[in-house]
Amino acid sequence: MRMMIVEDEDALAKGLKFNFEQEGFEVALAGDGTTAVRMFEEASPPFEIVILDLMLPGMSGYEVCRHLRQRDARVSIIVLSARTMSEDRAMAFDAGTDQYLSKPFALPELLSRVRNLTERRRIMFSPSEDSKEAAPVTMEFGDGIVINFDRFELSVRGATHALTTTEMQLLRYFTQHPDKVLSRSQIMHDVWGDSAAFGSRTIDNFVMRLRKLIETDPTAPRHLLSVRGTGYRFVAKPTDGDHNATEDDSPPN
Ligand code: CA
Repeated sequence: MRMMIVEDEDALAKGLKFNFEQEGFEVALAGDGTTAVRMFEEASPPFEIVILDLMLPGMSGYEVCRHLRQRDARVSIIVLSARTMSEDRAMAFDAGTDQYLSKPFALPELLSRVRNLTERRRIMFSPSEDSKEAAPVTMEFGDGIVINFDRFELSVRGATHALTTTEMQLLRYFTQHPDKVLSRSQIMHDVWGDSAAFGSRTIDNFVMRLRKLIETDPTAPRHLLSVRGTGYRFVAKPTDGDHNATEDDSPPN
């Protein structure tokens, strides 16, 4: 699997490269944002995973992230950041990252995140080989909303949107568990394959973005309902009783 590491601290970059090569990755290094964007655009075959430091000389990591994401909806991106403010985290997710890891980090933690993303890619991109994940290529729900799982596209009342791997994975997870109350920790575990390192803000950010795409009024969702103190509930065909519930008598799973 092809990986690009974008990091201006040379020693760290080389250490990471060494470790990922031991894991079987083919690794390229970029020391600044402009180089990273150019290498990404020229790469053939494309990079599948990018490890991206946020604090870079010149072009910021956020900007790099936006460029890469615009170019390739499917690439898996892990942002490394010495900043731990929740706004930074939210900004990184808005820029299109799949994961966010605070510096200093433990190497095993990063390796496990990468393995997890790699595994998700394997499942996402070869669904037929994984019968438990096998799902129809398209799914339609609500008022003219169609998800194309193969093409990572969401068509909402005629307008088509490209989804990132994580958005697609999360939306697929919701549609596979309709009408069930899903706790944040359950979603973390099943979609991200991890839990402890994430704040619940991560899921909330992704849900907010999906709501903007699928809900007629994202402030009064009918499909992706919040369940107070617990998590979320997906409703494919809302009735008058389905609204952004503050109470729900379904048993938590
Ligand atoms: Ca840096």
